[in-house]
Amino acid sequence: MRMYDIINKKKLGKALSEDEIRFFIDGYVNGDVPDYQASALCMAIYFNGMTDRETAFLTFAIRDSGERIAFPGIEGVRVDKHSTGGVGDKTSLVVAPVVAALGVKVAKISGRGLGHTGGTVDKLESIRGMRCDLSKAELERVVNDKGIAIVGQNANLAPADKKLYALRDVTATVDSMPLIASSIMGKKLALDDHCIVLDVKCGSGSFMKTPEKSRELARLMVDIGKAAGRKMLALITDMDCPLGNAVGNSLEVIEAINTLRGNGPEDFTELCVTLASHMLALADYGDYEDCENRVKRVLADGSALEKFVDMTEGQGGDVSWIRNVDKFPKAKYSCSVTSSQSGFIYAMDAEGYGTASLMLGAGRNRIEDKIDYTAGLILNKKPGDKVEKGEIIATLYSSAVKDFGASAEKILLSTTISDAAPEKRPLVWDVIR
Ligand code: URA
Repeated sequence: MRMYDIINKKKLGKALSEDEIRFFIDGYVNGDVPDYQASALCMAIYFNGMTDRETAFLTFAIRDSGERIAFPGIEGVRVDKHSTGGVGDKTSLVVAPVVAALGVKVAKISGRGLGHTGGTVDKLESIRGMRCDLSKAELERVVNDKGIAIVGQNANLAPADKKLYALRDVTATVDSMPLIASSIMGKKLALDDHCIVLDVKCGSGSFMKTPEKSRELARLMVDIGKAAGRKMLALITDMDCPLGNAVGNSLEVIEAINTLRGNGPEDFTELCVTLASHMLALADYGDYEDCENRVKRVLADGSALEKFVDMTEGQGGDVSWIRNVDKFPKAKYSCSVTSSQSGFIYAMDAEGYGTASLMLGAGRNRIEDKIDYTAGLILNKKPGDKVEKGEIIATLYSSAVKDFGASAEKILLSTTISDAAPEKRPLVWDVIR
């Protein structure tokens, strides 16, 4: 078999066989297939797509490229949740402790920030001492002791995805449906969780801009998961404006902790309750309404917050920061962005807001960049709110950047103000079973 022929076949729009896909993935991981041939194939896939069968073969080849993690030592039902990525998307920090407080075991592998989107691991590492690099044995111990752990992807879990993702990031081939589906599901299926709930974002801040495209992606991933024996469910949720009010690592952790105390922003709290209720229902904890009542109860009585404290303790973090969020270091500099006109906030382009946060130091431009955990922004307004000329739209924070000119301009360019309020977009567009 020759890589040249595989690229040429996809260039001509033909379907690849399972053997050809495995030849590519195995060769790319062991170094026989160079980056230039892998990027040519990704671009051919970008333009010509893949059949559902090919996407499933690619997913399973990515899954099998490294270690498969089973947890024979962990008892009980394990549920995982994965978001396709967004701005201000800190839901894992809330839903994982909520379902763990209700007895579901959570052994979750999360990602770091990517482009304009944030990552759960970076957020958690803004807590002093918090370790997300647990070994498999440590992960198993923490999940058994505390019922919950959230860690990063280690080098040996779906290494084909790690390598391919970095390549796609610099070759403009991220936003391809078969490549996204196989990347996410290849990682998820490397862990033997029983149930997976997918949060497929749609809108300006996500990789899929329309509900139709998001539905297609969700359906593809749900079918692949089911073929691999998992119980699957996907929600299509809105990502046209940032979720909640906080964007940036420690700012988002503080917002998640406030939400676990029952004081979260309305949109964010609603999404967390919906996701957690679906996770429980999928794990056979009762019908949806029953699960929703339980979720609301653990948010109200503080037991979900205590699970977050347990997780922090299990992963070496300083729990006094969770009990008192004033202990999180504050940004050295801040700047208010004000409206130049009166009217209604019509739109807040999530990608633009995510990019502004990145410019303040909350994300990486290069893999080796250090993150400023204090950096980010707080939205003082949301779409639909009335705004007066001179009123604050958003407050920007950074300890690394003193000059807020470019990021403030990005915020203004990403904010549309109009005479009339916009129609309210649904928070949950659809549920795919
Ligand atoms: N998240 C992933 O893990 N992979 C993608 O391709 C896109 C989002």
